[in-house]
Amino acid sequence: MRLGVTFAAVAAVALSTAALAASFDYALKPQKVADGVYTLIGKTENFSRENGGNIVNTGFIVGDDGVIVIDAGPSKAYGEQQRAAIAKLTAKPVVQVLLTHAHPDHVLGLQAYAGLPVATLTATTAALTQSGDALLGNLYRLVGDAMLGTEIRLPNAVAADGAVTIAGRKLRLIAGSGHTDGDLMVFDVATKTLFAGDLVFFQRSPTTPNADIPTWLATLDSIDALDFAMLIPGHGGVLRDHAGIAQTRDYLQWLRDSLQGAARRGLDMPEVLQLPLPERFRPLAALKTEYERSVSHLYPAYELDTLPTVPRSKPP
Ligand SMILES: [Zn+2]
Repeated sequence: MRLGVTFAAVAAVALSTAALAASFDYALKPQKVADGVYTLIGKTENFSRENGGNIVNTGFIVGDDGVIVIDAGPSKAYGEQQRAAIAKLTAKPVVQVLLTHAHPDHVLGLQAYAGLPVATLTATTAALTQSGDALLGNLYRLVGDAMLGTEIRLPNAVAADGAVTIAGRKLRLIAGSGHTDGDLMVFDVATKTLFAGDLVFFQRSPTTPNADIPTWLATLDSIDALDFAMLIPGHGGVLRDHAGIAQTRDYLQWLRDSLQGAARRGLDMPEVLQLPLPERFRPLAALKTEYERSVSHLYPAYELDTLPTVPRSKPP
């Protein structure tokens, strides 16, 4: 009898957990931005249980005979709901998934696309191979129930820089870096729509856990030179101009100069965390938390740069 009660209790817990996983509704609403081009705009918040990790923009392009998905979202449930949202709009099958970079909010929905070609830059696959489990564990902690059932899946193809036709749709894959070691952009030739991944943020503070700021700034210059009609940033709303590029550049330049200046003045990390943030960045979502994260990631290297190099042996 006692055992029976225990089993019943365990079963009840298991059931309610499964129900929670199944019931998390991302309420995904694809937004048509150009002929055959759609985006799913996420919140500009930090990860939370309430948003289920949907703080990211993903997208898809409907070609002549198939659909190309750009980023799979933060969880198995998101990937499944993204695929269902696509199926509501078109009977054409998904034939290709492209991943912009290795951050968890962009890649953890891949289970929904089992058996399909999933391409990204080699640096992204390397990063996921090395750190995927840690990224996954982190998201389970931050997001909780919406993550249930989510496992790491690795890309199975390499995206090469250059022109490619997929499902009859002419695309240009553009290899960049700076936000991470591998940042893939997808340019739809017919509509001049650029999926810029996290190389461009808009009205949301850029994240820097894997950033190389000089490289990122150089990549932003090359994006500025592209002839696009529409730019879909990794976070923030759809853009028809270069405002997101300018804002991301402004923030990164300020961050670099501010940390460099603080290191030269000999400030320690707690003092840097207290520095006032410029008024013009106030509208950026998650400003304070991203600034604090950036200081903890980046400041030690700036401090190191200010130290004199000591010769290891006396000159002959
Ligand atoms: Zn990212």
